Amino acid sequence: MDLSDLVEKTLARRRRSGALRIVQAGHPALRARARTWDGQLDDDLLADLVEAMVRTMREAPGVGLAAPQVGIPLRLAVLEDPFAPEAHEAEEEDRLLERRPLALRVLLDPEYEVIGRRRVMFWEGCLSVDGWQSIIPRAERVRLRATERTADGRLLPLEEEWSGWQARIAQHETDHLAGTLCHDLGVPRSFVAAPYASRLEDLAEARRRLGLTGEIEDLAPGQVAYTVSASPTSTASKEHHR
Ligand code: ZN
Repeated sequence: MDLSDLVEKTLARRRRSGALRIVQAGHPALRARARTWDGQLDDDLLADLVEAMVRTMREAPGVGLAAPQVGIPLRLAVLEDPFAPEAHEAEEEDRLLERRPLALRVLLDPEYEVIGRRRVMFWEGCLSVDGWQSIIPRAERVRLRATERTADGRLLPLEEEWSGWQARIAQHETDHLAGTLCHDLGVPRSFVAAPYASRLEDLAEARRRLGLTGEIEDLAPGQVAYTVSASPTSTASKEHHR
């Protein structure tokens, strides 16, 4: 089906609140590679889709939503984190995770490149795997490139460095566009119902209770960040040239 027709049809099924239905894991749209933006939708239709996606994200509520999550195979995502505390009132954990508010961003064709070797492990969930969480290791910093749709509808090139929780959101939403769900990347055995995750925020405790192994074993109580060693391949090639 033509993308415009699919968007029209999807928007016609909006709920009374204006929100769209969020598809759940198992729906083929979540595993397909979304299409690159090439002007498939006219300005008004793109505006209506973005508006409906923002409404859906806020109603859920969530901090990001990718078009495949509403059944649209387009490299488009909306991101917004109004829940993050301001720095002065941040609790210890928020400081460790660098969580701070993110104003609404609308991105076409986002891509990220990992910067450095610092990784942060923390609980993460997905609106398309409703009610479940996993511990997901994420790069602490990324270089994000995209075409940004501004509030007044212009499309502008974007290249920025994002860190902490914002970098996590960017990685999560961008991964959706390649058909990857966050739980695919989780620490094995860490998949739990959300209420259990909130009781296991100390990852050292989570490791002990759930029997998690690997890099998470190196985290001290209260710690979430670590540095990955150079990959075995690059070490081997260095030795080769020595
Ligand atoms: Zn998600």
